[in-house]
Amino acid sequence: MNLHLTHRNYDAAIAELQNRFGAAASTGASVLDLHAGDESHHARQRPDIVVRPQSTQDVAEIVKIAGRHCIPITAFGAGSGLEGGVIPVHGGISLDTSELNQIVEIRADDMIARVGAGVRRLDLNHALRDTGLFFPVDPGANASIGGMVSTGASGTNAVRYGVMRENVLGLTVVTANGDIVKTGSLARKSSSGYDLTRLFVGSEGTLGIVTEVLLRLHPIPEAKSAHAGFATLAGAVDAVTDIKRAGLSIGRVELVDQPLVDVINRRGQLRLAPLPALFFEFHGSVTEIDTLSETIEQIISDNGGTPLRWTDTAQDTKLLWETRRDCLAWAKAERPGSHSWPSDVCVPISRLAEVILETRQDVASSTAPAFIVGHVGDGNFHCVFMLHEHEETEVADYASRIVQRAIAAGGTASGEHGIGLGKRQYLQSEHGAEAIALMQTLKTALDPLGIFNPGKVLPDAGPFSSTSSEHP
Ligand SMILES: Cc1cc2nc3c(=O)[nH]c(=O)nc-3n(C[C@H](O)[C@H](O)[C@H](O)COP(=O)(O)OP(=O)(O)OC[C@H]3O[C@@H](n4cnc5c(N)ncnc54)[C@H](O)[C@@H]3O)c2cc1C
Repeated sequence: MNLHLTHRNYDAAIAELQNRFGAAASTGASVLDLHAGDESHHARQRPDIVVRPQSTQDVAEIVKIAGRHCIPITAFGAGSGLEGGVIPVHGGISLDTSELNQIVEIRADDMIARVGAGVRRLDLNHALRDTGLFFPVDPGANASIGGMVSTGASGTNAVRYGVMRENVLGLTVVTANGDIVKTGSLARKSSSGYDLTRLFVGSEGTLGIVTEVLLRLHPIPEAKSAHAGFATLAGAVDAVTDIKRAGLSIGRVELVDQPLVDVINRRGQLRLAPLPALFFEFHGSVTEIDTLSETIEQIISDNGGTPLRWTDTAQDTKLLWETRRDCLAWAKAERPGSHSWPSDVCVPISRLAEVILETRQDVASSTAPAFIVGHVGDGNFHCVFMLHEHEETEVADYASRIVQRAIAAGGTASGEHGIGLGKRQYLQSEHGAEAIALMQTLKTALDPLGIFNPGKVLPDAGPFSSTSSEHP
């Protein structure tokens, strides 16, 4: 029998954790339920125990206990993930980072913040409000910074500020043997040694537990928002490309396809032309934006757009972006009892219009209504199905074709949500066998017992593969 399996002992680990962490280690049914899943469509599964560490040192102790008894340990941030990353598919420990919630320091002069992994992004921006700085990565949900690091999150602002990879300067990570490793530095750039920071960014808790993060901050920009409808989806995408090529500074640009515009017109307060729409935020001084507005309006008109409607008041701007935030929830509400299944592909910008159009044509026959929203400035779009349980097989087929289409166009299965449980089957076709083998080598080197979030990201392998799990 495998040495790991002979040492695996869930009961002993639970007893040791309860003994050491008292009330911060819970096996209560409601707590286990809260840590059984995220916002994805994947089946929920309870951990055996939830532990809430208060410090990096606590995390190191938990990891050592997990290692001693060879049981899985899955980090839980805010649970807003969309690929089942927090689901402890082999049971074991759910390590809840919510008490690693200290904003350790804000170095306004360096435009850097050091925060605990459990800090929520809205709390960070609230704490920054008097500094004139903000942290721009905005995945819609009020996610934890550790979760955002681990999924390689981005969102509406990425076109201007980049994704987590560009905005994380360093990390404190607990590795599989309980060592506390610090990566990166306060310097804005570095050519020193292997880039361990970026190895952990996007690793979804499979290589180590992030406990602290050094973040790059940015000055709060002056901005103006606007929206326009387009005769065609292709026209909308081309307008974005042309605006970017003209060097005009887009802070955010979001595509909303016509079925979703129709939902907005039925449910929201914003009145839009019944056409695919783009929501824009331009950054720069207001004078600058006003000077450029003629060029922007010309580009939109040349691509079949309606006249650009600028928001005149702060309230109008708020309404525009709240509408973008809420429109998918409205679409779900229109189909009572449904749940959502979002795809998350990203393709080269030059192929975006074609891939979106093919996707729209393909999903036209779907029984479950499908809506497309896109961070089009990056080539990233989500086709979101609102489905009932009996439609899962049908939707899985559409979702699979969306990924295959994106990979064939030179793109990726996941622009920002991560691989989690849902996209593992595409990893090899996207990266090739050699790259997967190298990823496996890294995983084995960093986590030889396979205790960190087993069953995620990489194809099944190692002591917790589906055939070797002996968890009851
Ligand atoms: C309405 C809605 C809109 C969204 N829009 C976007 C979007 O536009 N862009 C985007 O990128 N995402 C989006 N998301 C997805 C989600 O918000 C992000 O994936 C976010 O980064 C997850 O953060 P979290 O704290 O909730 O992580 P969780 O869901 O708790 O965890 C996610 C993964 O990270 C691991 N993890 C968590 N914390 C740690 C840690 N400290 N150390 C190691 N591993 C850890 C977990 O084990 C899991 O694998 C959206 C979600 C919702 C519900």
